[in-house]
Amino acid sequence: MNSIKAAGKQQERTRWAAEHWLAAGATSGEEKVHTVSSRAAQALGRRTGTIPLAAPLSMLALLVASPQLYAHWIPITALYLMMTLVATLRIRLARKLIVESSEAMLPLARRYQLTVDLASFSWGSLVGLILLFHGADQVAELALVASVAITASAFTSLTLELSLWRRFVFIMWLPLVVLSAAAAMQGAEYGWLLVLLELLFVAFAVVQGQHVVRDNIAGILSRIELEYAVSTIADQRDELHLHQIRLDELLAQAHDLSYYDQLTGIGSRNHFYERLETNISMSRISGNQFAVLYLDVDGFKDINDTLGHMAGDELLKTIASRVRTLLRTSDFAARLGSDELALLINGVTQSRDTLAIVQRCIKEVQVPVNLCGKMICPRLSIGIALYPVDGDNTQSLLKAAESAMNSAKSNSKLHYARYSPEMTMAAQQRLTIEQEMRLALSNGQFRLHYQPQVDATSGEVCGVEALIRWQHPERGLIPPNDFITVAENTGLIDELGEWVLITACRQAAQWLDAGEHVFSVAVNISPLQLLDRGFVDTVRSALASTGLAPQLLELEITESAVQTHIEARETLVQLRKLGVRIAIDDFGTGYSSFASLKELPIDRVKTDRVFVTDMLASDRDMALLGNIIDMAHVLGCRVVAEGVEEFAHIEKLQLLNCDCLQGYYFSHPVEAARIPEFARSAAAHAEIGTHFRFAADLA
Ligand code: C2E
Ligand code: CA
Ligand code: CA
Repeated sequence: MNSIKAAGKQQERTRWAAEHWLAAGATSGEEKVHTVSSRAAQALGRRTGTIPLAAPLSMLALLVASPQLYAHWIPITALYLMMTLVATLRIRLARKLIVESSEAMLPLARRYQLTVDLASFSWGSLVGLILLFHGADQVAELALVASVAITASAFTSLTLELSLWRRFVFIMWLPLVVLSAAAAMQGAEYGWLLVLLELLFVAFAVVQGQHVVRDNIAGILSRIELEYAVSTIADQRDELHLHQIRLDELLAQAHDLSYYDQLTGIGSRNHFYERLETNISMSRISGNQFAVLYLDVDGFKDINDTLGHMAGDELLKTIASRVRTLLRTSDFAARLGSDELALLINGVTQSRDTLAIVQRCIKEVQVPVNLCGKMICPRLSIGIALYPVDGDNTQSLLKAAESAMNSAKSNSKLHYARYSPEMTMAAQQRLTIEQEMRLALSNGQFRLHYQPQVDATSGEVCGVEALIRWQHPERGLIPPNDFITVAENTGLIDELGEWVLITACRQAAQWLDAGEHVFSVAVNISPLQLLDRGFVDTVRSALASTGLAPQLLELEITESAVQTHIEARETLVQLRKLGVRIAIDDFGTGYSSFASLKELPIDRVKTDRVFVTDMLASDRDMALLGNIIDMAHVLGCRVVAEGVEEFAHIEKLQLLNCDCLQGYYFSHPVEAARIPEFARSAAAHAEIGTHFRFAADLA
């Protein structure tokens, strides 16, 4: 920017110099000589050459041709010598002007000017004297005047400044005119005619000088100053142009950076807000509906943690490009945050239109991708909000879509959800939950309920799963899904998890002491607990303090927890050494496979309840569940099927050789006190070959 300014200033200066120079040439003033630039002075020096010698030489010829003047040789010789001396001096000064540096230019130019004055003076005086002493020969006189005029005219080519030239003419002609006038007054024949002729020559010389001076100045300017000016202006224009191009590039880059996501190439967060704003204003006028979709990649953190950030970036790029292919030109896609995308879908008349796009998105995105040699099926959770019903401004619309997405995330079957006002309430509740949970821990508001697991062949209780509940003083019994994530996000999970562990172990030990059936207790472990360095010690001391045999404690962990953290495997090995059993919970829902399962030290596989739910409707799902059970057996694991709600489930699962069953068919999770009763009844039914159910729970 500074150089652009400097270029502009320089340009201004050059223009000013040119104007000033022209003005200086057209007006008078002794000092103006030094405004001649060094180059102009050099040009003057070069042009001078030996021209000044013309005056003494032509005068010599005149003198030689006029012997009648010899009588007056003293003044004539003096003036002639002075004229020759001045001419030589001027030639020398001219040579110096050519080579001198610009600082010495001013005094030199002044001396040069003096020689011009002296030359004109001596010339004019000499001619005057000749005229005076010559006698009344009019023809010779006329020739003399003509020669002065011609020489003077020749001298104009040396003229740079009009003021100088005027003085030159004045000094040269003055003695001549005065003497001619004196002769005329003495009654010389044609005397006044001669004076008139001389005055005409003076006028002619002044006019001619004016023109020549202007031409000289213009010539020098156009040749030197203007050439320079043009070249610098051209340079500056080039430079300016380059700056302009760079500026344009930078502006384009800045625009790109703020408008497009650098990783995926789709719109940026800012861009999305802007588009949303425009969409809202347009829809306010047209009355059209449109949809905002909030997309979140399931398990993205796991992928980043296990396969590295490069793989995570690759996955995002793939997802973004897949989503983009589904959009029409009127729609818009942007990346809002790490693994969150948003879509603007225009021209939506019914929510059904949006659903079609959402389903296409989910389907298109879950095509397997190869990441670092591993095939991954990316999954999206999508929240849907419609303008204007779900929100009529940018903030409320996006918030609605995000709440819907969060609700879609907790729904393992459908991967999308349309916004409903209850979702906002749920979000607000989550905030208060966090604050209240800390109090709840110290106030003993948490409870454990137990859900029996039944042996598929004998029908007897083979274990129970401990499931936490929060007995809230105002809101009643709160299910774990409403607060476990909050506990995980706030770090409360360690304390809460330890309480669950000790309480479950103590309970199991009490059942044993009371002489009840022997069965294990399963405790859910959050992935974060598993990462805690002191976790093995926590388990050891829980067992020690309650006196429960390690083999009666089962820890349920999700497969992703172990897969994403190498150090968690080491913890599992140590837990195994303690004698504790390990179960993989919700098997089949994560990104995992049997290939990775065989590396893990585990005893049980708990299949996700989706498999059992879908099994009756689809042979394919049943075959899939059968395969999982068979493969788990090959790996030496027993299988617990979750979500057994109907008798038909039991029959099918028995056919598939499932080992254990758990679900509402037998019992909902119940208070600890009811478990012995259930176990006894189950054992009694087992003897007669039927499965026991808690009838009261069915309501
Ligand atoms: P989970 O480990 O998969 O637990 C099974 C969940 O399925 C329980 O929900 C249970 O009530 C429910 N369930 C059991 N049988 C059926 C059935 O036949 N049909 C249906 N629809 N559902 C059935 P709950 O108790 O609400 O627990 C939800 C989740 O909360 C658990 O899923 C577990 O991930 C988590 N959780 C529960 N207690 C704890 C805990 O102490 N610590 C940790 N970290 N997580 C816990
Ligand atoms: Ca569980
Ligand atoms: Ca489960």
